[in-house]
Amino acid sequence: MDATEILKSNAAAVAAADAAWVNPRDPAKALGADGLPLRSRRAPKWKDIPNEQWDDWRWQLSNRVNTLEEIGEILELTDDEREGLSAEGKFRVDITPYFVSLIDPKDPNDPIRRQVIPVGSEQQAFTAMMEDSLGEDRHSPVPGLVHRYPDRVLMLVTTQCASYCRYCTRSRIVGDPTQNFNSKDHEAQLDYLRRTPQVRDVLISGGDGLTLAPKLFEKILRGLRDIPHIEIIRIGSRVPVFMPQRIDDELCEMMAKYHPLWMNLHFNHAQEITPEVSRAVDKLTRAGIPVGNQSVLLAGVNDCVHIMRKLVHKLVENRIRPYYIYQCDLVEGSGHFRTPVGKGLEIIEGLRGHTSGYAVPTFVIDSPGGGGKIPVMPNYLISYSDHKVVLRNYEGYISTYEEPEYYTRHDASKCVDCRGARPEPGQEGVFGLLAGHEMWIEPKGHAEIHSRGNTEAHRLQDPSKWQPLGIGGAVEGSVGAPLKVLTASAAAQDLPSGTEERPREGEPTAAAHGELL
Ligand SMILES: *Cc1c(COP(=O)(O)O)cnc(C)c1O
Ligand code: SF4
Repeated sequence: MDATEILKSNAAAVAAADAAWVNPRDPAKALGADGLPLRSRRAPKWKDIPNEQWDDWRWQLSNRVNTLEEIGEILELTDDEREGLSAEGKFRVDITPYFVSLIDPKDPNDPIRRQVIPVGSEQQAFTAMMEDSLGEDRHSPVPGLVHRYPDRVLMLVTTQCASYCRYCTRSRIVGDPTQNFNSKDHEAQLDYLRRTPQVRDVLISGGDGLTLAPKLFEKILRGLRDIPHIEIIRIGSRVPVFMPQRIDDELCEMMAKYHPLWMNLHFNHAQEITPEVSRAVDKLTRAGIPVGNQSVLLAGVNDCVHIMRKLVHKLVENRIRPYYIYQCDLVEGSGHFRTPVGKGLEIIEGLRGHTSGYAVPTFVIDSPGGGGKIPVMPNYLISYSDHKVVLRNYEGYISTYEEPEYYTRHDASKCVDCRGARPEPGQEGVFGLLAGHEMWIEPKGHAEIHSRGNTEAHRLQDPSKWQPLGIGGAVEGSVGAPLKVLTASAAAQDLPSGTEERPREGEPTAAAHGELL
C-alpha cells in the first residue's frame, strides 16, 4: 500500500466505526431491551392497540378519555377525584391515551395526574380570583389577538388543546368549542397585523395551534410570512408534551419553510420528558427551531428546588432552554395549586450559580389586570405584605398579586427528589437558612468577641471595623479615630434645611401603597 491508499483505508475504517457509534447520552436515541426505540408505559386498556395506531396523532386525539367511568378504568380514583370529575360546569377534561398512561394508577400524588385530573377543591373560590386574570380581553383589538406589548402580540388561533390543564389561565374560553376562532377571525387578526407595523414578533397560542388541521395551521403561518414587518414567529404549544406523535417529519418540514420560527413548550415535571418527547424535540431542533420551555409553579407538582432542578437538567439535556417559571395565575380552578411568591424565589436561588446558566429560567408573575410578565427581582418588586406583593412592570404600571391564604407546604420527607438530593459541601450560606439548618449567620470574628467574655461588644462599637471603608465621614488613613455615631434625631438635625428624610404620612405615594397592600 502506498501512502494515499493507507490514508484512504484509515478514513474508511474511521467512517465505519463512526457509522456504528450511537451516542449513549443522547436521550433521542435511547433503545429498549428489544433494540427498538424506547417507549414509555401504556395503560393496559390499550395493550392490544398496534404501535402504528398508537403512534398516529389523529388516533390519540379521537381516543381521549374524559368521563369518570373511562378514567376509573385506568386509574384508581380517590373520592376527591370522583367529586372533581362529577362536578357540574367544571373546566373541560380530556386526556390523550399517551399522557394518561404516564400516570401511576395507584399514586394520587402523581405529578402528571395532578395536572389533568380534577379534584373537588378545584371548585373553591379564593380571594382575588378572576375570570380573565391577565385582562386579555381588554387588550384585544380583534377577537383572539392580545396586543399588550409595543412590539409583539399574542395570537390565539384556537380554543382547543390536546389535553386540558386544570390550572389553565384561559379556562374562560379554552376547551369551549362554541368560543372557537375560525378562518374569518384569523383573517381579521392578520388584517390588524398588516396595519400595525410596530409588531415584529407574533406568538401563536390558544388553545394550541398544533391541534389545528395541518392545512389551516400552515395557512396562518403563510399569512404571517406575507407581512414583511413580522420578523419572528413563535409557537407556544403543549402538544409535544401531551401528544409527541404530532411532531412528525411532515410537520417539521412544513414549519421549517416559515423561519425564523421559535417554539416554547410547557413541561412542569421531569416525568413528562419521555423517550417519545425526546425524539419529538430532536426533530424540532433538527428543523432549526430553537425550543424553550415555560413551567407553571404548582403546589404538589413542582414546588420543590430538587424537583425543579431535575426538570431543568432534563430540559437542557434535550436541548430545551428553560425560559420562564410562572407564578400561578389568579384564575378560577387554580386555588389549590397556588404557592407563595417566596417559593419561586427559593427555587431560582437554588438554581442560579448552583447549576449551568442555561438551566436557569426567569421567575415571573403575569401581572393581574394585564401589565404583562414581571420578573420577580428587587427592581420590580415594590413592596410586600403578609398577603400581597406590589409589582411594577417595564412601563411603570403597578399591580398587586394576592398571596394564597392556604398553602400546604412541600413535604421534603415525602419527596424522593429531596431525599435523593446531593448536598453541596461548603454551600450552606443563605441556602442553609432557607432549608432550616441554621437560624442566623454571624459575621467573621463575632463569636470570638463573645467568647472573650465581652458580651457588650458590638461591631458598631469597634471603630476599627469601619475605618478602612471610610464610612460615616471617617477619613481614610486615620485608623483609630473615634467614629461619630448619630442618633436618629441628631441625624435629622444634620440634614440641610428643606430636605426631608422620609415621605410624610398621607403623601400620595405612601397612601397608594397602603391601599394596594
Ligand atoms: C407572554 C406574552 C407575550 C410574550 O412575552 P415575552 O416576555 O416576550 O415572551 C406577548 N404578548 C402577550 C399578551 C403575552 O402574554
Ligand atoms: S395547554 Fe395551555 S391553553 Fe391548553 S389547557 Fe393547558 S394551559 Fe390551557
